[in-house]
Amino acid sequence: MTQPSPCSGDYDSKNLCTWCDGCGDYGVLGATKRALVELGLEPHQVLLCFDVGCHGNMSDKLLGYRFHGLHGRVISLASGAALANPDVPILAFGGDGACFSEGVGHLVHAIRSNYNMTFVLHNNANYGLTTGQASSLTPKGEKMNTAPQGSVEDTLNSMDFVFSLKPTFVARTFSGDIRQMTDVFKAAVNHRGFSYVDVLQACPTYNKFASHEYLLERVYDVQKEEHDISNFEKARALAVDTSERIATGVLYKNNESVPYIDRVEARKGVKTRLVDEVASVDITPLLKNFK
Ligand code: SF4
Ligand code: MG
Repeated sequence: MTQPSPCSGDYDSKNLCTWCDGCGDYGVLGATKRALVELGLEPHQVLLCFDVGCHGNMSDKLLGYRFHGLHGRVISLASGAALANPDVPILAFGGDGACFSEGVGHLVHAIRSNYNMTFVLHNNANYGLTTGQASSLTPKGEKMNTAPQGSVEDTLNSMDFVFSLKPTFVARTFSGDIRQMTDVFKAAVNHRGFSYVDVLQACPTYNKFASHEYLLERVYDVQKEEHDISNFEKARALAVDTSERIATGVLYKNNESVPYIDRVEARKGVKTRLVDEVASVDITPLLKNFK
């Protein structure tokens, strides 16, 4: 598949995508560019952070300020950026392998700290880049390349886990619905605090149990069913129960959310940002110690 699309403006890159045909990453890429353009953000006004994984190959498929970090660490590097310069919108992209296994600690503390950033989970329920290993979100019993007789580990209930951390914004969307994804990403970026966005993503190469068609049959938009996004318990119940239908859209938003940096007493009334203060430190005296 080639670029550009007519609605992605200055974000278009000449680099060609290398994902498998039918990969949900194409949809996430399109929706991301579209959301940023519709938000009126130019590429130099936003920071895009990527983890390692198939989705991470997006880092040079669009333009702008981008940081492609280590596996499982995208939330920590994005959190640091959010603290350093609260004026820059930040989107961090990571897979279910990276962010619910080795990086899960960063997810926990970013949610409970309420850093001001958007986290987009590419949830294809497996490690795609390393050829179909079971992740903690793979359904128990599924036959994967690392578990040919079926995964024997219990599946992490990711939405219940996220809600247990008292998040201030939770949404779920589907890689096959670019219009909804775009709207969800825009709402997430506009939220003050940590926005958790679960993208149910097709991986036709390794995920045979939740295909594009399977998801398409089950997803529904809660915004079309008069859902009250301020109702935490209702949102949690909707998010967790995927037995018949899968609720998508903005599930929960706390309008009283206060990001971490705005809670820190020492920062109140300070006009500069941390990034300005770091840049103005003269390290010449320190260097004399190493002569
Ligand atoms: Fe996409 Fe899966 Fe192919 Fe990776 S392995 S590019 S996630 S379809
Ligand atoms: Mg994955």
